[in-house]
Amino acid sequence: MADSALMHTYGRLPVAFASGKGVWLTDTEGKQYLDGISGIAVCGLGHAHPAVTEALCQQAGTLVHTSNLYQIPHQEAAGQKLTQLAGMDRVFFCNSGAEANEGAIKLGRLHGHQKGIDKPQILVMENAFHGRTLATLTATGNRKVQAGFEPLVSGFIRCAYNDLEAVKNILQSRQDVAAILVEPIQGEGGLQSASEEFLTGLRQLCDEHQLLLMLDEVQTGNGRTGHYFAYQAYDWKPDVLTTAKGLGNGFPIGAVMAQGQAAELFQPGHHGSTYGGTPLGSAVVKAVLETLERDNLCQQAARIGERMQARIQKHLGGLDALVSLRGRGLMLGIELDRPCAELVGLALEAGLLINVTAGSVVRLLPPLIISESEADQLVDQLCELIKDWLNTPPTS
Ligand SMILES: *Cc1c(COP(=O)(O)O)cnc(C)c1O
Repeated sequence: MADSALMHTYGRLPVAFASGKGVWLTDTEGKQYLDGISGIAVCGLGHAHPAVTEALCQQAGTLVHTSNLYQIPHQEAAGQKLTQLAGMDRVFFCNSGAEANEGAIKLGRLHGHQKGIDKPQILVMENAFHGRTLATLTATGNRKVQAGFEPLVSGFIRCAYNDLEAVKNILQSRQDVAAILVEPIQGEGGLQSASEEFLTGLRQLCDEHQLLLMLDEVQTGNGRTGHYFAYQAYDWKPDVLTTAKGLGNGFPIGAVMAQGQAAELFQPGHHGSTYGGTPLGSAVVKAVLETLERDNLCQQAARIGERMQARIQKHLGGLDALVSLRGRGLMLGIELDRPCAELVGLALEAGLLINVTAGSVVRLLPPLIISESEADQLVDQLCELIKDWLNTPPTS
């Protein structure tokens, strides 16, 4: 579309959707698609979920926005529910994942200054993705995201993911680290999971050195991995926890949470947002979280995720081209031995929405409400497509 008024930030696929219901989307020509990506881990409750529609319509007709100058009972209620499910003490609502991570970075720096560090550093990981604002693109471990936007923000140190020795070495050689920011599973970076030893080791190192452990659960949160938050698979807590994507089921909202001393760091004047936690957004968050809880969607994500992994293994396990199956719950990656971005267009033609990340990893993030038979259909069709594609000699 040469005459589009939009900036050229996206390479868009040649399809537009007109409506959705559950795990199904219908395009403007009337063709149906099975949604294996949920708007990138956003629509965990699927499309047009009645609880979300109701909260949106009811609140839109009552009160959309006032301002954080005033009390917002819906924000209090959403915050109560979210911190309870997340095991945190306090929350600040913002409008996106990047903004939530900006809040975390500010908490990390405040903590550092309180410890008397002049220029506090935040430790971040290779292949990380934390967003597109200047601080979060600096924290991101991908040159493609950063190139052209230098000078980058100072105050970040990078180290290898899943390499506890590397982290120990950095903490031994410098005294200015204030916090560690890490994803439990690297969603954009190819569905690589942090090992339990790595995360638990980071928790211990943060305790020893009095650093904040800050988890970016923008993508892994809100039931996606089979827990409300991925860290809940372990028996410790982070100091700071960020989330967004699944929190509003498509309504743009993010959250930075904290527990213990970290929850008391922000004081009046430190941080703010015009839109964060409006009555409308808060009503939606409450509806989403209550639905996740009422319908046991964490357990469902865990169960269907295991079923899908086993079924993918059955279809593709014997192939040399399969390098690994990655992920947890309904955050799954099929790593192939070659670049496979082409599969996205082929799947689209076949009526499946999938994504490829890190060049050679097919990523599946279906709605948490997906049924067993829909999950089987997604896996069967996708695996047939992958096999056909692997067997077709490259054209030209
Ligand atoms: C998507 C994502 C972000 C950025 O969220 P936006 O809402 O696009 O700003 C940050 N961190 C992780 C892990 C993500 O997956």
